[in-house]
Amino acid sequence: MMSDSSGSTVLERKEDSPKMPDKKKTKFDVIIIGAGPAGYTAGIYCSRARHDTLILSGILPGGQLVNTTDVENYPGFENGIMGPDLMITMRKQTERMGTTIIDDEVVNVDFKHKPFKVLTATEEYEAKAVIIATGASPRKLGVTGEQSFSGKGVSYCATCDGPFFRNQEIVVVGGGDSAMEEATFLTKFATKVHIIHRREELRASKVMQERAFDNEKINFHFNSEIEEIKGDQKVQQVTLKNSKNNENKTITAGAVFVAIGHDPNTKLFTNQIDLDKQGYIILKNRTETNIPGVFAAGDVHDHRYRQAITAAGYGCMAAIDVDRYLGEE
Ligand code: NAP
Repeated sequence: MMSDSSGSTVLERKEDSPKMPDKKKTKFDVIIIGAGPAGYTAGIYCSRARHDTLILSGILPGGQLVNTTDVENYPGFENGIMGPDLMITMRKQTERMGTTIIDDEVVNVDFKHKPFKVLTATEEYEAKAVIIATGASPRKLGVTGEQSFSGKGVSYCATCDGPFFRNQEIVVVGGGDSAMEEATFLTKFATKVHIIHRREELRASKVMQERAFDNEKINFHFNSEIEEIKGDQKVQQVTLKNSKNNENKTITAGAVFVAIGHDPNTKLFTNQIDLDKQGYIILKNRTETNIPGVFAAGDVHDHRYRQAITAAGYGCMAAIDVDRYLGEE
């Protein structure tokens, strides 16, 4: 502790100035694959623990938050923050801690031998430990208007974007637990929620179904699929087709929440790491995978919470686990 010119006590900075990263280096203590909240947080913690750390961010760094608008539920931002701005801030903070960040896509990994190898199209990197933070991607409907209205009424996260559609009708697509949960959550804001499901029966668990059926604000449209999402600047209408009677229907709604599942970004690791049936990384203990020295953080293993803040938390945990692992090594 020390005093400033006014005599108040202020906290003294403990860390010295970060050194500039050497982008030509190929050997690191830790390589983090992925640059969402989990990857950046892991980078901050690894670098502060003085491990030489590289993040290979992929070609679109920032993860799912770069596709959202206002983020109101990430602590520390009294008035919220735009998703892309939050990720740029995290990146700058990570770089300031000394993490090397390269915006390149990983095309292959070799976790069978040590040091581990992580390959991009043009470079081969080596590390004593790896953190996989490649996240998950929401499944897309692939209908007209979905992409063009993404962030303008089309959303893949009710917790993130629901509050922006107060006093409007909202459409939710899907028949699983996520769709029921999101629809029920969205009734807090919407005047009416329309669940569009492609079959006659829901896939969701009985308890989640009952909760949705009991909610007077929720309307079900079974055997129905969206044909088009329409609007002028933002979502205004959704056209449906009923597969049983071929009838078309138009719903006036301000938002479409697509809740048809997520796919973890784990194709790269199929023959290297234990994955569950849905492709999520199976954690053996804390953030450890089945390969000692390879860790996972965020949505790539977590299909339950899937929040930026929980991903950041897992990034921190993975970095602390890496620090202990490297210490023991
Ligand atoms: P999910 O169980 O795979 O359900 C996806 C739903 O979307 C299914 O109803 C499916 O229809 C539909 N769907 C898939 N592709 C579609 C397409 N192209 N067009 C239209 N509809 C499509 O996914 P989820 O609901 O995200 O759940 C994932 C896992 O997380 C599950 O194990 C779930 O139990 C769990 N979860 C649990 C909770 C909780 O316990 N609170 C909350 C959320 C999720 P079909 O039924 O016709 O295949």
